[in-house]
Amino acid sequence: MSTIFKRIIDGEIEADIVYEDDLCLAFRDVNPQAPVHILVIPKKEIRSIADLTLEDQSLAGHLLLVVSKIAVELELDSGYRVVANTGVDGGQSVDHLHLHLMGGRQHEWPPG
Ligand code: AMP
Repeated sequence: MSTIFKRIIDGEIEADIVYEDDLCLAFRDVNPQAPVHILVIPKKEIRSIADLTLEDQSLAGHLLLVVSKIAVELELDSGYRVVANTGVDGGQSVDHLHLHLMGGRQHEWPPG
């Protein structure tokens, strides 16, 4: 069964897309936790960071560079937080690798 993110990649579900290339897609989170809350996902179906393999090395780097590029475009000049919830203890709710890019407010540490 497809995840909701796979259905967004396939165009079956609408999303507020802010960036797309051959390898990845970025769209606004439907339940934003910050004034700017973007999800960056690979088009390849990978469950989580824990499922990355050596074959995904350049893709994983690409996702980080896309986060950085979007942050510049959205003028998050004073900083932002990047999160990859992984597995049950990480609080992951969608089983398709995604990076949360959150900005526009001061974040606290430690997170909950
Ligand atoms: P996580 O809990 O780290 O797996 O994050 C999943 C994120 O996906 C949550 O922040 C949700 O708000 C977000 N989300 C779920 N469905 C959608 C959707 N259809 N469009 C955009 N964001 C979504």
